[in-house]
Amino acid sequence: MDNNATTKVADEVIEEMTPYLGELYGNPSSMHSFGGQVSSKLRQARQSVAALLGCESDEIVFTSCGTESDNTAIRGVLATNPDKGRIITTRVEHPAVLGPCRELEHHGYTIVEIGVDKQGRLDIEQLRDRIDEDTAIVSVMYANNETGVIFPIEQIAAIVKSKGVTFHTDAVQAVGKIPLNMAKSNIDLLSISGHKLHAPKGVGVLYVRRGTRLAPFMLGGHQESGKRGGTENVPGIIALGKACELAGKKIEEENMRVKQLRDRLQEAILASCPDCMVNGDQQHRLPNTLNVSFEYIEGEAILLLLNKFGICASSGSACTSGSLEPSHVLRAMGVPFTAAHGSIRFSLSRYNTEAEVDFVAEKMPEIVQKLRDLSPFIKA
Ligand code: PLP
Repeated sequence: MDNNATTKVADEVIEEMTPYLGELYGNPSSMHSFGGQVSSKLRQARQSVAALLGCESDEIVFTSCGTESDNTAIRGVLATNPDKGRIITTRVEHPAVLGPCRELEHHGYTIVEIGVDKQGRLDIEQLRDRIDEDTAIVSVMYANNETGVIFPIEQIAAIVKSKGVTFHTDAVQAVGKIPLNMAKSNIDLLSISGHKLHAPKGVGVLYVRRGTRLAPFMLGGHQESGKRGGTENVPGIIALGKACELAGKKIEEENMRVKQLRDRLQEAILASCPDCMVNGDQQHRLPNTLNVSFEYIEGEAILLLLNKFGICASSGSACTSGSLEPSHVLRAMGVPFTAAHGSIRFSLSRYNTEAEVDFVAEKMPEIVQKLRDLSPFIKA
């Protein structure tokens, strides 16, 4: 129930990548045929990723993760626009975007963070108004990792394009969960992470629309057409190609099933646990994500009890867990402090079953009641 943190590597993916961890260990840059067979397999993987995104193979740049893709997009665009000093993003981005932005602020850049409403919806008019002559890049996530809220990215991309500014979207949580088509889009740069769509960790993609001016972030060899130096993570890239192929085959059907499971869980929790609420716009939400706030109790305590039953979930973002600060996403949405503290994210995948969902639904009221009986926030 924690698939927005990471996903199970699909069996088909393991099968596809395994030979390239073993006997087929060639370097794709080598001139000999031992390396050549690897480079032709990489080409195939690149085509599979491009097919899922509806773009051309030469628009795919392999990276090491979603974080690297986000950093490359932002820093790479700034480097080609030395006369511009403004970055526009949102208050609810992942740290992979907010981190480099905060660092760049120390180097004199102006960072504009657009806010969201109580449902986690972006203020599009504010975004439009804040784009000016000094703006180098606008970076807005496709779907939020904590709440699952999907932003109207095509509308935003069209606005940004009309202003002549480069547009990046962190689509790490969207790819494989909702259909995307770059051919019909105004997105210039888009980030993907392999381990969120049933490929292993350590591989990502930055989609770079033809003609987009981008300086490389990793300097070294001529790999990735000079856009990203460093010997390729061959098994990881082959794995990601296969994962994209699998995701593309069944995207609508799988996600309908996952959505039904998520809705079943949501209904059961709302019916059996008093004083809880769903966070985020339920009309525009990833099919797999459910973020619920339970009043008067701590999310971490819920997680510990869930863990005792072998149930994995998350409070806020996995990357920030370990800190007891309420999630920056829920705070940006104005979720009251006590509710933000008691928030849990369930995120499903195609491997979850109805029996698992029913097991969680059965345990939740028990856990909530137990913690509320101990809660100092509730007077007897
Ligand atoms: N962006 C979003 C929206 C994410 O959810 C994550 C991971 O949780 C990342 C970026 C970072 O991806 P990676 O773990 O591949 O660096």
